[in-house]
Amino acid sequence: MNVLVINAGSSSLKYQLFDMSSETIIAKGLCDRIGIDGHLKHTPVSNGKPVFNSAISLPTHAEAISAVIAKLTSLEYGVVSDLSEINAIGHRVVHGGSKFFGSALIDEEVLKAIEACAPLAPLHVPANMMGIEACQKAMPGVPQIAVFDTAFHHTLPDYAYTCPIPYKYYEEHGIRRYGYHGTSHRYVSALAIDYLGKGTEGTKIITCHLGNGSSLAAVKDGKSIETTMGVTPLEGVPMGTRSGTVDPALVAVLSELNGDIPTKNAIDILNKESGVLGVSGISSDFRDVETAAGVDINTGEEIEGADIHPRAKLALDIFCYQVAKFIGSFYLIMGGVDAIVFTAGVGENSPYVRRGVCKILSGIGIELDRAKNRFRGPDETVDISSESSKAKVLVIPTNEELVIARDTKEIIGDL
Ligand code: ADP
Repeated sequence: MNVLVINAGSSSLKYQLFDMSSETIIAKGLCDRIGIDGHLKHTPVSNGKPVFNSAISLPTHAEAISAVIAKLTSLEYGVVSDLSEINAIGHRVVHGGSKFFGSALIDEEVLKAIEACAPLAPLHVPANMMGIEACQKAMPGVPQIAVFDTAFHHTLPDYAYTCPIPYKYYEEHGIRRYGYHGTSHRYVSALAIDYLGKGTEGTKIITCHLGNGSSLAAVKDGKSIETTMGVTPLEGVPMGTRSGTVDPALVAVLSELNGDIPTKNAIDILNKESGVLGVSGISSDFRDVETAAGVDINTGEEIEGADIHPRAKLALDIFCYQVAKFIGSFYLIMGGVDAIVFTAGVGENSPYVRRGVCKILSGIGIELDRAKNRFRGPDETVDISSESSKAKVLVIPTNEELVIARDTKEIIGDL
């Protein structure tokens, strides 16, 4: 069975075609700058055909899907002979509200329910829907499945997900903490449970998905019981351009300081100009910021005699401090921890951040082995804990696309 996985953003669309008999990628690619001008990079993986990497007109997501299909089936760049070899499509959908606890076969009703979640994630859900609708048009009759970022966190207890604001906003508008990156937290926590090898019941894992967007989850008995992102993906640890948790009254302060700009624009400052970028003034990309702070990004070690940009160093200090602070609170609410997992772009690739976080955790007996930590980009689970660490420290590469393909296969199998 071949499953096409689609991750549609507002101006981009990533795809991977999986052969699910071996869980291998047949082809992958990225449509970029949709609605601006357009660019497509298509990589056939399974058959050694050339990579297509070129500007191409992509006025809307519909043209993007058509271009992807054309490449997947073309003589020169193709990996399948025709569309009948694509058996199902799995879509990443950022928000499923309180309705979806798991992945769902998309029909009229499901599509309406997804649309109803748009006000809760206005940047993401409309883009996800454009991806779904474009696929429905281009491949009518091919089953489509939605896999929700929020679903894994549906097990949060009410006292964790309820915002302490007037209750009517929850009852009338569904305002509550939902959590995000659930597909990633679910995937890496399951691998950590496998690694620990003592079964799911009783295990306590803290997963740290650290990328451009970052969130942590407390996973007890295989279930998410707390996470750092909340109503929107702005809450929690600082990120590439997002502030994470700050005093909410800052919205009014920022508005006033900028000539009474509308609330929406003040929140834009917290979403787009803050975090590591805002403090360092250099970049939202951790590689640039670490380099400016005098760090060798391959080993995570400070380069002797290097110039250190003080605000780059401060931005990294704040990031590590906040991640450690949340780990500490998750440790407390779970009554301990068996493994801390680092994943996603920064978690998998930054020995400096892993070391900075774990340094603060020494008070609860968690330590990594500095030599084992000096690597980036693992293919599988790597244990970087020291001999005496009270919990395992693991680096596990995430694979959200594979989870989406697996869920899709499972649901199709039930049809
Ligand atoms: P997204 O949230 O967009 O999926 P990713 O998980 O791909 O993001 O993470 C992107 C981040 O990973 C960028 O900030 C990038 O700098 C960081 N990163 C990649 N390689 C390294 C490295 N060697 N050292 C530090 N950060 C890295």
